[in-house]
Amino acid sequence: MEATKHTNEALRLRAEAVLDRLAPIHTAPLPALSFGSPFELLAATILSAQCTDARVNLVTPALFARFPDPASLAAAAENSDVLTELELLIRSTGFFRAKARNLSLMAKALRDLHGGEVPGTMEELTALAGVGRKTAGVVLSVCFGVPAIVVDTHFGRVARRLALASSEDPIKLEAEIAAYLPRDRWIECGRLLNLHGRVFCAARKPLCGECPISESCPARGIR
Ligand code: SF4
Repeated sequence: MEATKHTNEALRLRAEAVLDRLAPIHTAPLPALSFGSPFELLAATILSAQCTDARVNLVTPALFARFPDPASLAAAAENSDVLTELELLIRSTGFFRAKARNLSLMAKALRDLHGGEVPGTMEELTALAGVGRKTAGVVLSVCFGVPAIVVDTHFGRVARRLALASSEDPIKLEAEIAAYLPRDRWIECGRLLNLHGRVFCAARKPLCGECPISESCPARGIR
């Protein structure tokens, strides 16, 4: 027990030093999705699976003009012509049939179970079609200011290379970090490690020679 406490304290100090070093370097907002409401962010995040934020941003203006709220989008769950219309609008984001189905069922649940509003808890969000912990974490942190560690492939890779966590499983990895990092740094941690993975710490040929945190990285020089 005492040993775990000491290990967690050492991890906290290392993680916070990494975050402090990265904060002035990675200033871009994340996600880079355009949205005007929690409903739009939720829909855009569902669309961003296996797709770039930039591509999603090309699609969402027409999508939200046609389906501005949960009630209008829910019609796609009940009318095949509307579903086809939705599929055509989101086609270029990939996996469009599954995404259209998830979007329509998500909107139906918002309309029928949540008074047309996006709920603000992890449990309620992950009960919606197409919404996993990552999507829920994005919505919770951005729209509700609720601390959440958003784990995606970039985040997981960087956290493991920095030896801030070891699990390959996103939920376990999130729990490892949540066990030692103060809650008020969870959102920042998700954003900074994610951006670091995109900019320096790519899956192949990471830019270790230019990396500003290479001294604290056990994996520096990895190929
Ligand atoms: S030193 Fe290399 S492996 Fe480590 S965080 Fe930086 S880019 Fe990634």
